[in-house]
This record gives sequence, structure tokens and C-alpha cells, in this order.
Amino acid sequence: MVRQSGDREKTLYNVSTNTGPKSKTGLLEDLVQSLKTRDITKDPLSKEEAVSLMGARGSDLMDLVAVSGRVRQEMLGNKVRLCGIVNARSGGCSEDCAFCAQARDSEAKIDHYGLLDEETIFAAARSAQDSGAGEFSIVTSGRAVKSKREVSIIVSAVKRIRKETKLETCASLGVLDEETLATLKDAGLQRFHHNLESSPSYYPNVCSTHSFEEKIRTAQRVKAMGLKLCSGGIFGLGESLVQRVEMLMVLAELSPDSVPINFLNPVEGTRLQAQSLLTSQEAVAVVAVARLILPGKHIILCGGREVTLRSLQPLALLAGASGLLVGDYLTTRGRPAGEDLEMIRDLGFEPYYANVEG
Ligand code: SF4
Repeated sequence: MVRQSGDREKTLYNVSTNTGPKSKTGLLEDLVQSLKTRDITKDPLSKEEAVSLMGARGSDLMDLVAVSGRVRQEMLGNKVRLCGIVNARSGGCSEDCAFCAQARDSEAKIDHYGLLDEETIFAAARSAQDSGAGEFSIVTSGRAVKSKREVSIIVSAVKRIRKETKLETCASLGVLDEETLATLKDAGLQRFHHNLESSPSYYPNVCSTHSFEEKIRTAQRVKAMGLKLCSGGIFGLGESLVQRVEMLMVLAELSPDSVPINFLNPVEGTRLQAQSLLTSQEAVAVVAVARLILPGKHIILCGGREVTLRSLQPLALLAGASGLLVGDYLTTRGRPAGEDLEMIRDLGFEPYYANVEG
């Protein structure tokens, strides 16, 4: 049974503005109103303002969505990127990420298998394209893909995807060195995914086997190699509102091309199996604040979106998300891609195909 957390962090609401005669709600209202005429690209949110906005609920949240949605429209128009993934190597990871069903200490009941062959990876890519995806990522469990044999399978799969589909190619293969990144780029890889997972101050609660700094270094290496960087994290791991904002601000500094937003969907057998889900309104606030902190970046709704946002999924797109991970996730099921395409069109948005439209 999945539980909702409620607004357990309301004490942090308006942390920097709780003096003076106005009520907290009034102050938040004023802040949201002021954003309507503020150019967020020239006058970015302060940390305190962002934390206040993270606490927006009800009518304040609707007002915030109107503001953040307009920023998305101005910066990115009405296009929505659709990404598909394949879990190309599952389970047996040496790392201990608390949220992950594939972690070394996880007792979750998942499939365990070594790297899929080229044909199977390619078939997954074609199926993603047939479902409407414009991007496709090859994802592997583990600290890194290292062996020459594995790199060569992924290189062949990337070449074939570029040659025989219109998909933009992405990979999430852990901590890679420059040589391997260069090999993948030469094969036609366009984007590399490497999540920060959480804020620097909360990260030690999430993972002890590799550091936050190592993640930043890997992400920077990806950019230095001329690949597009896809980097975001997971919300709802037990972090505070301040830590949510901190992660978004670190991401703004890192400046990835796209920012996946995941919401914890606790899996039985993982360290976080008893963690409560965020409420759907908390999750919409995360998306809206992310849009304001990262105004020109692609914000992609990923794992946990269905169970967390529930009937508010369209609101998250209106709040500023500009992409969806479609189909199944790494170890949990997603809803049929057709339902996402219908939602996008109902909202007046259009799917975006990077390799076709440029
Ligand atoms: S998130 Fe990646 S590195 Fe961490 S445990 Fe899961 S598969 Fe391993």
C-alpha cells in the first residue's frame, strides 16, 4: 500500500519571509504575483524564494503553475520530448543507492541479467520509436560499463539506432572515462545521462559507495566531451524542501541540456521501501520551481510520475515540464505511451522529434 506524505514540511513554508504583519499565505501570494512581471532569466529566484514556492498548495499552487507554465512557453514553446529507455543490464550492482531495486543490498524481486545483445537493444529502440518516442536511452546497472566487449555491443547498437531510426541516442552507463565517451560519441551517441540523484547535503543518506563530487565530475566530463548532458534527480527520498531547492540550484550551475525529474516510487526490498510518496501537489510544486530555476532546460518527467502525480500529470506539464519518459521504467511499469500522447495533444502540446526537427 503506497502512502502519501501529506504536507509534513509546512514548517519550512516561507522560511525567509515570516516576519511582519502579513500572513504566510499572503506573503506567498505576493511573491507569486510579483513573478508575473519578473524576467526570471535576468533576475533569478533566490534560494529563500524558491523554498517558499516549493510550499505552494491549493490556489497559490495554481497561480504558480500559471507563472511557470508561461516561462516554459516563452523558452521552449509547446513541444514535448518523449524518451524511451531499455534496461540493458539489470541488477547485480556494486553500489548502494537507497532508492534502487538493483542496488547491492536490495532484496527487491527484479530480473537479473547481463548486457543484452545488439539485436535486443535495437529491437527495444524500434519499439520505443513505434510508440512515439523521439529519444532512446541505453541504461545499464552498475558503477560503469568497462569491458571492451560491453562497450563494443553498445557502440554497435548506437550505430544501428542512428542508421535505422530517427531516434536521438542517449546512454546511461555510469562513471565513464574520456576515452569511452569519445568512442561512444564517434559511434553517434548524442547525449549522456548521469543523475545527481539528490542535493549535496542529502546525498550521503542516499549513497555511500560513490560520492556527489564524483557525479559532478562525471557530468562535467560529459559536457567537456561535447555530448549533451541529461542530469537530474529523484524527489521524495526524505529530503527537505531546502534540499530540493539546493539540488535544482546545483543543476542550474551544472547547466545540463535536459533535467529528468523522478519521484520516489518505493519498491519493496529496497532501503526506502517504507518511504511515503510525495503528494501530487508537492510534486507539481517541484516541477514549477524547477522550471523557474532552470528556465530554458528540458524538464523531463520520469520514474514515479504516474503514482505520484496521479490525476495531476497534465498539471505538471502545464507547470513547465517539457518531456516525458514513456513506456516502462527500469524496474517498474509505466502506462501505455498512447495515453501520454493523448494527454499531450489534449493540452495543446506537440511531441518533439530532435533528429527530425533539429
Ligand atoms: S542507481 Fe545505478 S549505481 Fe545506484 S544502485 Fe541503482 S544501478 Fe547501481
